[in-house]
Amino acid sequence: MRAWRLHTWGEAPELVEVPVPVPSGEQLLLRVEAAGLCHSDLHIMDAAPGQLPYELPFTLGHEVVGTVVAAGDAVRQPWLGRRVAVHGVWSCGRCRQCRRGRDNYCSELTGPIGNGIGYDGGLADYLLVPAARHLVPADDADPVALAPLTDAGLTAQHALRAAGTDLRGATVVVIGIGGLGHLALQLLARQEPVCVVGVDPRAEARALGLRLGADAVVASTADAAEWLEGGHHGSGADVVLDFVGAQETIDAAARILAPGGRVSVVGSAGGRLTVAKGGDLPRGWGFVAPFWGPHQDLADVVALARTGGVHARTETYTLAEAMTAYDRLRQGLVQGRAVVSS
Ligand code: NAD
Ligand code: ZN
Repeated sequence: MRAWRLHTWGEAPELVEVPVPVPSGEQLLLRVEAAGLCHSDLHIMDAAPGQLPYELPFTLGHEVVGTVVAAGDAVRQPWLGRRVAVHGVWSCGRCRQCRRGRDNYCSELTGPIGNGIGYDGGLADYLLVPAARHLVPADDADPVALAPLTDAGLTAQHALRAAGTDLRGATVVVIGIGGLGHLALQLLARQEPVCVVGVDPRAEARALGLRLGADAVVASTADAAEWLEGGHHGSGADVVLDFVGAQETIDAAARILAPGGRVSVVGSAGGRLTVAKGGDLPRGWGFVAPFWGPHQDLADVVALARTGGVHARTETYTLAEAMTAYDRLRQGLVQGRAVVSS
């Protein structure tokens, strides 16, 4: 089968032929129908040797939807032939975090995380999944629209929940209207009444933001600060969802925060935050840096998609065209999510 494998840190992955895996025990084999391309893949490719706790080579692709085509003897339920979304945090299912439903913070996941993040992922013709508990059934869903929900949608959902604040009447600033941000806007549009300001330097991303229910869109965090100061809904943002995570955006998030406000930093662009009680931040500040999301949140997002409550905007590519799509993602040309579809 074909697979986009990362062989060298700091270099592009290569499309190579590898054997189709054979499932045993609790494992299942999926024929991949769709795989979303995430900005995190670019961070992984760009990583310096030793920066990430994963061994090379491995196959990229952590937003995967496929059909179960084979399973090991220990797989009990009739999964064969079913379309499934893969929950990519391959947690242990036994530790305290897993038992609390916080499986995205599984204490056993100290190295590789899951498909395409240290283990072989779904940017390939087939994907081996360790156990059925990492699957969410999605029989009648469109695989292309579904794939981005497994990370972009799930992470946006968890980031919003992790902010842990009452959203009624809140002003929310969403920084970055890309793969994750455009789904966050849709989740927020369901949380009436909330005032949402989207920030993105790209005009097409701002236009998408308006179509997805943002009350206002601006080109920079400085413009967002001005918009908030301009008497719109009082001072500051009650929630900032930062899907960029650069120094500039984290600094801006701290500056525009309202008293009691919460910042969810999701983007991995390397920004750092210095905090102190009684420092420059407003009273009652809270920052979280959520990671991906728990299995249950993926099930919730998939259920929401089934009723039309959230719908990923996608550009589709063949598996052979994945690098073209990654190049477009790097250049900031992708609208919504780029998805490889078989
Ligand atoms: P993306 O490239 O699809 O979207 C990023 C968007 O941010 C683009 O629209 C871009 O124009 C915009 N942008 C860039 N600089 C900006 C700035 N200074 N101000 C406002 N907008 C700006 O990326 P994505 O796939 O949505 O991922 C976003 C980030 O989230 C990445 O860093 C990714 O690695 C990270 N991520 C984190 C998790 C997690 O679990 N924490 C999960 C998935 C992705
Ligand atoms: Zn665990």
